Amino acid sequence: MSENSTPIVIVGGGHAGVQLCNALAAAGLGPSTHLVCDETELPYQRPPLSKAFLKSPSEALQLHRGEAWFAEAGITLHSGDAAVAIDRAAKTLTLRSGAVLPYGWLVLATGAAARTLPALPTTLANVAALRSAADALRLRGLLEAAQRVTVLGGGFIGLEIAATAAMLGKRVTVLEAAPRLLQRSVSPELAEHVLAAHRAGGIDVRLGVKVSDFVIEGDRLAALSVNGQREPVELLVMGIGATPETSLAQAAGLDCDLQAGGVVVDASLRSSDPAILAIGDCANFPEHGSSRRLRLESVQNANDQARTALATITGAPEPYRALPWFWSEQGGMRLQMAGLMPADGVRHRRPGATPASFSLLHYVGERLVCVESVNAPMDHIAARKLLETGKSPAPAVACDPAVPLKSHA
Ligand code: FAD
Repeated sequence: MSENSTPIVIVGGGHAGVQLCNALAAAGLGPSTHLVCDETELPYQRPPLSKAFLKSPSEALQLHRGEAWFAEAGITLHSGDAAVAIDRAAKTLTLRSGAVLPYGWLVLATGAAARTLPALPTTLANVAALRSAADALRLRGLLEAAQRVTVLGGGFIGLEIAATAAMLGKRVTVLEAAPRLLQRSVSPELAEHVLAAHRAGGIDVRLGVKVSDFVIEGDRLAALSVNGQREPVELLVMGIGATPETSLAQAAGLDCDLQAGGVVVDASLRSSDPAILAIGDCANFPEHGSSRRLRLESVQNANDQARTALATITGAPEPYRALPWFWSEQGGMRLQMAGLMPADGVRHRRPGATPASFSLLHYVGERLVCVESVNAPMDHIAARKLLETGKSPAPAVACDPAVPLKSHA
């Protein structure tokens, strides 16, 4: 049997797993492919869960592919069945149902789980977190019934939920422990803009707060303390990040980064067992051209790593080197990032047509390394081209409002 006709088993039907199915089907490898999904829904898009899906009870899940597509591609779909154990010596994967799948290639695309606090289990009737369709369905019902919503965490997902709740007419409070919003991912200037926009939209954003003393009465969180002051809670949503899903890999003895998180992979996304790859949110990979390791949570990273995985599987490995990019929608704001924010870059503001539309260009020396855009989608597209091709227009030229950024790309 040639390497490429051996069974390819993918664990996880999220963005990375489904994109790999797309790529394998296009390469004629669908009939060798199994997709194992612990969720019962057909694979769906995750980003709308904190946006359009939360807003309206009539909004349906946006599926990646219908059941017929998987059948036509020859891909065997194992829905509602979790992978529970890898036998690396026998090269088999055991599912919760008891099925045992032999593999030539095993791809872990297990994503991440919403981080929660032990003191605040989501089994409490008015405490929620958001990662899956089931979470979103529950949160949508809870939001409909609530008047006041407390969001713990001022990261992307917390702020998207807060903005959606505010648009639904709820009184929203965001509690963030850090001195600013989006501390891990955007520049201070962008964080200030986002803060001002949310406050102008009526959201009570409190920064640098210490949240403690959770008061649980029956099956509900009744109150908590903010900086020592007790406050009642009607509905609390946790937006405190995500933890990569590595339990399967760890149990199989694969190298995992227990501090930064994720299954440790090489540039072609192979784990410490070369027959097992990891892609998407669960992968801890080397940044191309640097000594840094990264783990990214974005649709771009999931999709592009699936393409690199295909190259590895088909015997033409290439280093993963895609440009990172990301978007977030928060009320009327569309934030888009291209490249990764440098720790010590210099920022230049490129004005847009209105005060609410601009881009921030980050330079290290003379090199453009990252562009953050607010309601400036054309800048974002142009920035991606510039960053992908390594072009760096001088800041004064790039920030001339009379010259569109795309003319430099
Ligand atoms: P996932 O999409 O999480 O898929 C992993 C799948 O594996 C899940 O279905 C999980 O149930 C399954 N799984 C795990 N373990 C097992 C097992 N043992 N057996 C079987 N199945 C298993 N990114 C953006 O770029 N822009 C956005 O606007 C944006 N918005 C987001 C909004 C929300 C609410 C969330 C939760 C995420 C958002 N993201 C956004 C992030 C983006 O969705 C993720 O980066 C992307 O889904 C990662 O894809 P993945 O396939 O690696 O993981």
